[in-house]
Amino acid sequence: MTDLAPAIYPWLDSHLQRAGDLLRQGRMPHALLVTGLPGLGKSAFASHLAALLICEDRGEGHTACGHCSACKLQAAGNHPDYSCVTFAVDEKTGKVSTVIKVDQIRALSEKLSLSRHGAGYKVAIVQPADALNINAANSLLKTLEEPADNTVLVLVSSQPGRLPPTIRSRCQQFRIGVPEADVALEWLAGQYDGPGPGTLLRLADGAPLRALALAQENALQERRARFDTLVGLCNGSQEPVSVAQAWAKDEDLKGLGWMREWLMDLLKIRLTGQIDGIHGIDLAERLQRLASKLDSRVLFRQLDAVNRNLRLTDSSLNRQLVMEEVLLAWVDRRS
Ligand SMILES: [Zn+2]
Repeated sequence: MTDLAPAIYPWLDSHLQRAGDLLRQGRMPHALLVTGLPGLGKSAFASHLAALLICEDRGEGHTACGHCSACKLQAAGNHPDYSCVTFAVDEKTGKVSTVIKVDQIRALSEKLSLSRHGAGYKVAIVQPADALNINAANSLLKTLEEPADNTVLVLVSSQPGRLPPTIRSRCQQFRIGVPEADVALEWLAGQYDGPGPGTLLRLADGAPLRALALAQENALQERRARFDTLVGLCNGSQEPVSVAQAWAKDEDLKGLGWMREWLMDLLKIRLTGQIDGIHGIDLAERLQRLASKLDSRVLFRQLDAVNRNLRLTDSSLNRQLVMEEVLLAWVDRRS
């Protein structure tokens, strides 16, 4: 994640325009909470907003001028009025933290209490804000309760429900919505020329950056292979413990996420008899064939096993055991 603003995604333009209007009208809030699904460019929006707030020659536009001394400092990643708090990287081990800690917020508050360097705003981005631990959230609350002049805090989160209500209520929400499909597809076409951009966009719930990431990960091929494995488990040609061993190696346990999605699709097909409205459109016919052989009660039980284990994956629990439990439930067809 870079501090510097990447190119503006076309669907973010109207949001930046709204921010620019607030700024010109003197109505820029002290704290913003930027929300929306993963893959919509919330972080890019926050970077562009920060650049706009820091720029000293804004004029009537809604983007930073790019040539004033403040913009040059910001582009070089050196503007003293800009801060970005995110996951810390341990210098010795290179390990990335999974929470934002209180020391980071204390250091930020201290920096914000210093006088301004330039003529623009002081800006601090906190992302993902839902990763603040309890102490860090309490510390940030104090800063939010005593807003400093010419200072804007930008909190970024795709899971704002995880933030304490006391923090949410002190921020003005900026919700980045899913762009129109034609805007997203046109942008995707310029980034990637492989097959199935429409399918990828559907699988990404309409979030273009997520769709591009799926394309780069060859997600369609991989989903097919994983689905083959699940079918293989059903007919006994694959063995749960060894599959669990392989799937536990995924950084993000995506196999578990896909299983959840497929089980919900299988249930939807069982209960409605239709494939309209299922999420996994890349596997629609295969899901339909599989659904005809499965029992709804068993599917509910399997979905429950997946959900229970998905909740556990935040903790340091043994991933292989998590996958084993889910895959053993998958092969257990007793109703
Ligand atoms: Zn500028």
